[in-house]
Amino acid sequence: MDTNVRVRFAPSPTGPLHIGGVRTALYNYLFAKKHGGDFLLRIEDTDQTRFVEGAEEYIKESLDWCGISYDEGPEKPGDCGPYRQSERKDIYAEYVDKLIDNGRAYYAFDTEEELDAKRKEAENQGTKFSYGPKNRDSLNNSLSLSSDELQKKLAESDDYVIRFKTEAHKTLELHDEIRGYIEVDTEVLDDKILFKSDGMPTYHLANIVDDHLMRITHVIRGEEWLPSLPLHVSLYEAFGWEVPKFAHLPLILKPSGKGKLSKRDGDQLGFPVFPLEWKDPKTGNVSAGYREEGYLPETLTNMLALLGWNDGTDQEFFSLEDMTQKFELSRVHKSGAKFDPEKTDWFQHHYLQEQPVGDLVDEFLPILAQKEIYPEKVYVEEVVKTIRERATFVSEFWELSFFYFEAPKKFDEKSAKKAWKKDSEEWMRALIGKLQSLEEFSQAHIQAEVKDWINTQELGFGKIMQPLRLSLVGAMRGPDVFHIASCIGKAETISRLNFAIEELS
Ligand code: GLU
Repeated sequence: MDTNVRVRFAPSPTGPLHIGGVRTALYNYLFAKKHGGDFLLRIEDTDQTRFVEGAEEYIKESLDWCGISYDEGPEKPGDCGPYRQSERKDIYAEYVDKLIDNGRAYYAFDTEEELDAKRKEAENQGTKFSYGPKNRDSLNNSLSLSSDELQKKLAESDDYVIRFKTEAHKTLELHDEIRGYIEVDTEVLDDKILFKSDGMPTYHLANIVDDHLMRITHVIRGEEWLPSLPLHVSLYEAFGWEVPKFAHLPLILKPSGKGKLSKRDGDQLGFPVFPLEWKDPKTGNVSAGYREEGYLPETLTNMLALLGWNDGTDQEFFSLEDMTQKFELSRVHKSGAKFDPEKTDWFQHHYLQEQPVGDLVDEFLPILAQKEIYPEKVYVEEVVKTIRERATFVSEFWELSFFYFEAPKKFDEKSAKKAWKKDSEEWMRALIGKLQSLEEFSQAHIQAEVKDWINTQELGFGKIMQPLRLSLVGAMRGPDVFHIASCIGKAETISRLNFAIEELS
């Protein structure tokens, strides 16, 4: 077992966590657990302009709900903390100085106006401005200043940035665990900003410094970060550090397969793209979450695990533990994974059936209480056991079982037409007589007695069973009528039959 595996999930607290982010966290978690390693949570909050109140709590609560636990993080200190980048500012300043000292980074004093002018000029010539090896010598930066001039400039103002000095004319040989060998010519790269005038590092610098200091061995993250890979590998080399292994996960695509799954797709097609409900602190807008929509965390993790990975067999149901044992980075797909909301509901149906019945009862009781129905727990348990296989969500329980708790107030017209015939009244009156004579009112006993009785009357089964069901349920649906009858009891069964006779004859 490879015990020094260390991976991290490094979200920026800029809003709710998209399910793509949950999948990234999940794969990191699975990989760490599979190899007996550590999984870290690092909050990348250096971009103060994008900081959103409550986002970090949301991220932690989401992971917690999914059962994705981390070994080190903001509230779980290890020996690499702090785990919030805004608390590590001094570290980045120290490291960017090292790059300045070894000539791999430089100060740039260009103002926004100067850069804008350059951009416009390039645009007019039909090209795109890029700050890099080809033009940096002619721009407003420290590369051409003497050390005295530079010191003077720095003393005068702190309105400067620090840029990475991309090596010119070099072919970078990169390796991705999922995508394999990638070759990039540094010609296409620009000199990215590493440190901003506000004294904060950019994502690139902070991310690399932290991955190094936190002894991260594998960087597993979304495909959207693949374009940053050449810079990141160059930064490791510039620092003289060992490069971790990289794995870029495939995009999660819209159900149509055309483009990346967005929040808008969820709104339009009616499914959440966030694990938990999120209320935007600025606009007050609420976005739906899997938890609040009644999904189980097992559904979400199973569904996400299979969006981009499988174990090489036809197995589709995976508990977290099972996935942990079987997860392999080499089995993560290269191409985008189509999101499938129906499949999600299929998983949900499965996991609802696996829930302990007591948990389902506990969730159903408040729904009943809202209707001022307060049955005994054992009674609700009996009902839930009978109807759960027809349900995908607890929220459907009432519709599937209301007749166990209250008499139908009206009869479904179509069902009544089909089930209640001219002679139904006569037969239901006879059935009442039969039921009245029964001493025992268990499901099996009522069934045996009523069936016997039907046979001796030489009747078609439907003649009795259909109006009976209609009377008890109000429609032609629901579980075994004898089960319903025995649950609601003899008096209630007879009362419902009488009501039906009154209403339908
Ligand atoms: N902070 C980045 C994000 O929000 C982290 C990317 C990475 O994992 O390197 O996704």
